[in-house]
Amino acid sequence: MTAQLLAGAPAAAALLAATAERARALSRPPGLALVRVGDDPASASYVRGKDRRAREAGLRSTVYALPEETSQTELLSLLADLNAAPDVDGILVQLPLPPHLDAAAVLRAVDPAKDVDGFHPCNVGELWSGRPGLTPCTPAGVMALLAHYGIPVAGRRAAVVGRSLIVGRPMAALLLAADATVTLAHRQTPDLGAVTREAELLVVAAGQPHLITPEMVRPGAVVVDVGINRVVDGSGAAHLTGDVHPAVAGVASALTPVPGGVGPMTVAALLANTVAAAERRSALPVCP
Ligand code: NAP
Repeated sequence: MTAQLLAGAPAAAALLAATAERARALSRPPGLALVRVGDDPASASYVRGKDRRAREAGLRSTVYALPEETSQTELLSLLADLNAAPDVDGILVQLPLPPHLDAAAVLRAVDPAKDVDGFHPCNVGELWSGRPGLTPCTPAGVMALLAHYGIPVAGRRAAVVGRSLIVGRPMAALLLAADATVTLAHRQTPDLGAVTREAELLVVAAGQPHLITPEMVRPGAVVVDVGINRVVDGSGAAHLTGDVHPAVAGVASALTPVPGGVGPMTVAALLANTVAAAERRSALPVCP
């Protein structure tokens, strides 16, 4: 068997087009505030990419690039201003923050109705309660990718490897909400292969290159590789690889490539969340 490759680009393009159309239907362009602190080049590059995509989709995006020495009080003050700004519909604080800042407190300071990363405890609670809220972008992107390729979720046995707040846990919640039967695995899971072999739908977000090998995959399973790992080969060249060994393509029925699979979906889901926040803010707040 050679797995169908689930490329992210066409699915992301479809989601971006639908998002741009929803944005055009609003009375004013949805506003997105992108906040980053410090000089981390990766964070700067991620924020530039989000800003560019947002503008392409017709959103009004503003980048707030704060210096490394920004204090907690200064950052919370900016967030209070953005929470109060009527033309700002979505606020994203790029992680990681410099170590002197309390990231959990910063994420709690974002108005849940504008929390387009879906990390505020109110939105986490809404998600696990099976109610609509703002959902973390990478798992939301995975669900959109599966929908784009017509891959059914309801009634399937699903396994998620990784339990982070950003990917694994919300991924499990979304699959559960879509009526899959979900197992959530982590480092303390005894016999990981026994769990993954049960899964008809396997989502891996562990940050471990090639953790999942062909003998750990049920023949015909759909495998979503969220992992992005920078590895250096024998010649000293760096390249990106996923958490799933490429030979899994010989066992699975469908597999996301790395790079080019889940990656493009994350930004598209962020912009969809921003438009959803703009639509919803004209109705009831997410968490009064
Ligand atoms: P993280 O916070 O480090 O969490 C990793 C999770 O994987 C933890 O729950 C950990 O278990 C589990 N894990 C690690 N090694 C394992 C093993 N050998 N067996 C079983 N479980 C194991 O990472 P993250 O933020 O969720 O990101 C995961 C990966 O996704 C990374 O490669 C990241 O770069 C990538 N990512 C990609 C996108 C995208 O847009 N495509 C977005 C976000 C993240 P414990 O809890 O027991 O420690």
